Amino acid sequence: MIIRRAEVLGMCMGVRRAEALAREAGAAGIASGKKVFTYGPLIHNPQAIESLRKYGVQVLDTEQFEHGLFDELARNSIVIIRAHGAPLSTFERLKALSATIIDATCPRVLASQKKAVQLLQAGYIVIIAGDASHGEVASILGHAPGALVAENPESARQLANSIKTSKAALIAQTTIKESEYQAIEAALKEKFPSLLVIQTICPATRDRQEALRKLAETVDALVIAGGKNSANTRRLYMAALESGKPAWHIEKPEELPDEVFNKEVVGLTAGASTPDFIVDEVEKYLMQGAKKYGTAE
Ligand code: SF4
Repeated sequence: MIIRRAEVLGMCMGVRRAEALAREAGAAGIASGKKVFTYGPLIHNPQAIESLRKYGVQVLDTEQFEHGLFDELARNSIVIIRAHGAPLSTFERLKALSATIIDATCPRVLASQKKAVQLLQAGYIVIIAGDASHGEVASILGHAPGALVAENPESARQLANSIKTSKAALIAQTTIKESEYQAIEAALKEKFPSLLVIQTICPATRDRQEALRKLAETVDALVIAGGKNSANTRRLYMAALESGKPAWHIEKPEELPDEVFNKEVVGLTAGASTPDFIVDEVEKYLMQGAKKYGTAE
């Protein structure tokens, strides 16, 4: 068996940076005796969260925190703001609790927050194309109160009908699919022909999708490593299935079926929230399995 990795795979710049900051914060917590939390799960990957827990980093439930349920726990602690960012009110509450804030908001998300504020100040109605329940969208709304969210073309049309002004601007959740963004843009343009469309989609997802498509042409099967609750990993899996090759989405190597060891060339990729150690573990498991089944190269 030959194992071929995608040219671009695994953690994106923003998540990698947030993870490194969380590990540093974990060490600082041990040294100072302070509790260390991430504001919501840092990464959509259970193994990565477990690994951070070993560094003393726990997860604060964002909703419960916003309802004041963790005030005593968070007081004087160290809190890492994840790559999605957080609303301004969260920063203020943490400061009021004398927490040390480590801001790991991805620079791309920071740019979206800033852009939304600038557009509102310039008199635009700002519409964010994305998932209203996603942490990044919540963080942009929390910096640019008054912005609106369109999750799909239908909700975009409904929103457009309720807006009285013609000065509207559209920005994207960084991880939205380009085709979904274009569909929302088209729906809004029915009402706002001069809609100002800002390009805020992060290339990380597209780069991984592109690399997967190229990889699929050269392999017999595909393995996609990453959290089952990671949207971008699930999209990679969908793209893998669309390639027509057998594909498996796994969180742990042991989830792979024995069938994979009969394949001559296996492609390996991972979502933008999958840590390197998991990719390495999957590769090692494939190599060991191939040796056991006598299909190793
Ligand atoms: S996907 Fe892009 S925007 Fe989101 S955290 Fe990663 S680098 Fe930042």
